[in-house]
Amino acid sequence: MTKTPGPDFIRTIVEEDMKTNKWNGRIATRFPPEPNGYLHIGHAKSICLNFGIAKQYDGECHLRFDDTNPAKEEQEYIDSIKDNVRWLGFDWGEHEYYTSSYFDRLYEWAVRLIESGDAYVCDLDAEQIKEYRGTLTEPGRNSPCRDRSVEENLALFEKMKAGEFDEGSHVLRAKIDMSSPNINMRDPVMYRIIKANHPRTGGKWCIYPTYDFAHGQSDSIERITHSICTLEFEDHRPLYDWYLDKLGEHHPRQIEFARLNITYTLLSKRRLITLVEEGHVDGWDDPRMPTISGLRRRGFTPESIRDFCRRIGVAKSDNTIEIEYLEHCLREDLNKRAQRVMVVLNPLKVVIENYPDDLEEEFDAVNNPEDEVMGTRKVPFSKELYIERDDFMEDPPRKFFRLAPGREVRLRYAYFIRCTDVVKDDATGEIKELICTYDPLTRGGDAPDGRRVKGTLHWVSARHAKTCEVRLYDRLFTKLNPARGKRGRDWRTNINPDSVVILNNCKMEPFIECMKRFDNIQFERTGYFCVDPDTTPEKFVFNRTVSLRDSWAKIQKSQKK
Ligand code: ATP
Ligand code: MG
Repeated sequence: MTKTPGPDFIRTIVEEDMKTNKWNGRIATRFPPEPNGYLHIGHAKSICLNFGIAKQYDGECHLRFDDTNPAKEEQEYIDSIKDNVRWLGFDWGEHEYYTSSYFDRLYEWAVRLIESGDAYVCDLDAEQIKEYRGTLTEPGRNSPCRDRSVEENLALFEKMKAGEFDEGSHVLRAKIDMSSPNINMRDPVMYRIIKANHPRTGGKWCIYPTYDFAHGQSDSIERITHSICTLEFEDHRPLYDWYLDKLGEHHPRQIEFARLNITYTLLSKRRLITLVEEGHVDGWDDPRMPTISGLRRRGFTPESIRDFCRRIGVAKSDNTIEIEYLEHCLREDLNKRAQRVMVVLNPLKVVIENYPDDLEEEFDAVNNPEDEVMGTRKVPFSKELYIERDDFMEDPPRKFFRLAPGREVRLRYAYFIRCTDVVKDDATGEIKELICTYDPLTRGGDAPDGRRVKGTLHWVSARHAKTCEVRLYDRLFTKLNPARGKRGRDWRTNINPDSVVILNNCKMEPFIECMKRFDNIQFERTGYFCVDPDTTPEKFVFNRTVSLRDSWAKIQKSQKK
């Protein structure tokens, strides 16, 4: 179970509102994704916050699809979002909403603002609107259409709705203040013509409300009490307030918090779409993607993501979290839950000369030293084994404690073995196999005479081994802040060309065959892995989730200095 987050500035506000009975003891939050892409870990922060607060204060959290732009939105995205939120462990119950269900209401409100002289139809095109808007230092200029009569505006808006105008030829704008220091208040667009079918309203509309015209009103319709959003919406708050004041509707309290940024990671949907569309990754759920679907396929657990979100907390100013910290939270969780197994990634054959040809033994191996309840399993042993190629060196340097000619090591759970000979390919000189002897008295991995070895290796019995595929993932970007390309070049130049290495001839112990898709496993000495959904009855496929080495501790140490 995830722990309840400590107090943060948002929970303090909610707590205070509960005490003063501000909303009659009611708490309603919402998570409002635009279904124009898959959710990423930044969204997870918002999900944990909104659903978390609702849960903590016995309130409700709405899942609202902000589907105001049919040109970019798809059912696939809606389905993936629902899947992801559920997978993260949250439940919106009956509170599944769509901004598109409010289109009639929003239209009526737009007409009301025209009638009160607070909105007008503008014929400027997008380019001109931008030019008239001014800049941060210069005020904007009034549109030539600003003083149209109410009657004319109503007639034009009706024609926009009836499909009589081309896309881009007319928009409906709020009549606020072209010289406002807040650019969002300079007669923002409320409605634009988009001649596209909507996944939910079909061909009913050819005008669609902008995000800014729809968002505050949707919160109001749903009687949201705390509308929690990221900092960039702080400057939009006066506009949301303006609309609701003019319409005389319920005001939720908007609270802004800092969005999540992570080193070596891009969390902008636009960029993520580009990665998918240009084929830099294999789809939205590619294990290198920071999407919830990608993280899941990589082997993240919902618990580790929730724990990460709880531990980073919420703040009021922008910051960037080290990716090592996310990995640290993940390791902590996997360490507790992951089944330990032995898998050899780059196999080198070992023949134990003095072991009987037909003998097979089984050793008890611990499934998880962190959790006794997980018990033990049997690991088969025989005359021919595989060990990791880099666990042997013919001419080892001083600090190499693994296998070398004449040297003795322990095979985990089994015996001590000593390397007596090296067999090489005549033509290439490549090492083909090692000839070893074993000491039968060391059964179980200890020598009765007290003699010690420095290295313990993992291994798989060749006769019992199954061949599998292992995909070793690395960071998708090579730069701490991948949004900026080197010397002003494109961000794509930061893509890591070696972000995946696929190994096709890995050898796994037979026990693993009982594992299911997405199961988390620790390959002893190599890292945490999970079973990829590409796995078939013929062939197991694993993704490396994260290595065993925790570089977070190192970073913390260097920061303390
Ligand atoms: P992007 O910037 O990636 O395109 P978005 O904000 O346009 O994302 P939405 O679907 O509108 O995506 O986001 C839904 C909710 O998730 C919003 O309330 C938004 O504030 C929040 N959110 C999006 N990105 C982050 C982030 N990096 N950290 C925290 N919350 C986020
Ligand atoms: Mg958005």
